[in-house]
Parts: sequence; C-alpha cells; structure tokens
Amino acid sequence: MNELETLSEWLNEARNAVFFGGAGVSTESGIPDFRSEQGIYRKKYPYPAETMLSHAFFHSYTAEFYDFYRTVMLYPDAPPNAAHRTLAVLERDGHLAACVTQNIDGLHQLAGSRRVFELHGSVHRNFCLRCGAAYDLTYILNSTDIPRCACGGTVKPDVVLYGEQLDYGTLDEASAAIRAADVLIVGGTSLAVYPAAGLIDLYRGQRLVLINLGETPADARADLLVRDKVGEVLSAAYGVGGAE
Ligand code: NAD
Repeated sequence: MNELETLSEWLNEARNAVFFGGAGVSTESGIPDFRSEQGIYRKKYPYPAETMLSHAFFHSYTAEFYDFYRTVMLYPDAPPNAAHRTLAVLERDGHLAACVTQNIDGLHQLAGSRRVFELHGSVHRNFCLRCGAAYDLTYILNSTDIPRCACGGTVKPDVVLYGEQLDYGTLDEASAAIRAADVLIVGGTSLAVYPAAGLIDLYRGQRLVLINLGETPADARADLLVRDKVGEVLSAAYGVGGAE
C-alpha cells in the first residue's frame, strides 16, 4: 500500500481522529506562513516578527504593532482550501473529533468545521482592554492607527502574542481531544512554537500521521510521513474536491 492508500484507510476507519495544524495549512489559501521560503520571517521588517508580535511590543509601540499586524497577519478575503474543506467533511462524516490549530485566521470554521480549538486565538475576535467590549475583524481593518473603543480604550486582538499565556480552557480541551484520538494527523506546522507543539506528545495511539513540506522534529516518530501539500494530500486521501 502506498502512503495515500494507507492514509485513506486510516481516515475511513477513524472514529475519533484529531487534526493538529499550523500556518502551513493556510498557505494553499494564499496566507504566508512564518518559516517557509516565502514565509513572514524571511521578509525584512524593522524588527524581527517575534518582536513585533510580542506582548511587550503591543503595549509599548501599539501603532507600529497595528501597522505590521494589518499588513502581515490579516487576509480577510482568503478562502478555505482543500485541507480545511476535507477536515470539515471528515468531521461531518463522523471520522474527525476536532481540529486543534495554531492558526488565527478562522478558516476551519469558515469551511464548516465545528469543533475547533484555536490555541493562539483568532483575528476575528477583538476586545477593548478597558471595558471588554467586543469588535470584529472589519472594525480593525477599517480603523487607522490604533483602533479605539467607544469608551476610549485600546482594542486588542484576541490573539496570543509572544510572551502571553495560552488560554487554559482551550489548552485543556485540545489536550483531552488529542489524548483520546485514534488517529492524530499533524500538518502544516514546523512544530517549533511551544507549548502548542508539545501537545502532540499526548497522543497515545499508533497512527500518527505527519503531512508537512519541510522537516519537523517529530518526523522520526511518525507512523506515516507524507512530505507534500496538506490540502492536496488530505483531499486526495478522502476524495474531497480540491478545486475552488
Ligand atoms: P511555521 O511557519 O513555523 O511552519 C509552517 C510549516 O508548514 C513549515 O514546516 C512548512 O514547510 C509547512 N508548509 C507550508 N505550506 C505547506 C503546505 N501547503 N502543506 C504542508 N506543509 C506546508 O508555522 P507554525 O508551525 O504554525 O508556527 C508559526 C506560528 O505562526 C503559529 O503559532 C501561528 O499562530 C502563526 N501563524 C498563523 C498564520 C495563520 O493563521 N494562517 C499565518 C502565519 C503564522
């Protein structure tokens, strides 16, 4: 059996699979990741991206943060791709229990996935640091300089910046889903960002699938390693159309 046939069999047999993904899941939607050749880290900005996306930078240089964030992190017109669509169908068909994502773009939900654990938050949720009022992505896109609340407070994206804690509730639920998974599919992530990357250590099964273009520290542990595009691979393995 080749890799695709094995993956196809494992997906069809799964009753409780979990997908764990990162920025590489959305590159086929036209959103750059961080560490690939075309990734955000390869571009020249005044400071390293990790600095500009940090808690300290947000609070000290809020206008510069928003300038970078609006330009580099927001892709409101990016559509879900074959990976997002296939995962939504796998959930609908009773094979997939949850998507655990490091992404902040909301594309899993847009494709129809219901049980999505967003470890790093979402660009679609924003809130006032003073009064807690909620704002959507359009509000951020239409704002200039620093987005302000009606109360005068600064609006912050509900995104986990470098130097900030992950939400414990989300982490707990994602951990429980991975512990209970019969198949764990890891895709489109360099597994370089902790504590998120450490979650895959919780998987206890014998069907760890890794679909990634580049090498990862978990390659040697994978029961099935596919070095290809995650959207193309998942849609080919589960027979969901890849075209827009
Ligand atoms: P990363 O940039 O470190 O790694 C992406 C990995 O995906 C690389 O190993 C690359 O080889 C692989 N890849 C790229 N395109 C692929 C494809 N089509 N198919 C298979 N593999 C592909 O990303 P990361 O591990 O998620 O960590 C970076 C952090 O950046 C995350 O915490 C995430 O929150 C954030 N981020 C999110 C978005 C988004 O929401 N779309 C975009 C950029 C960065």
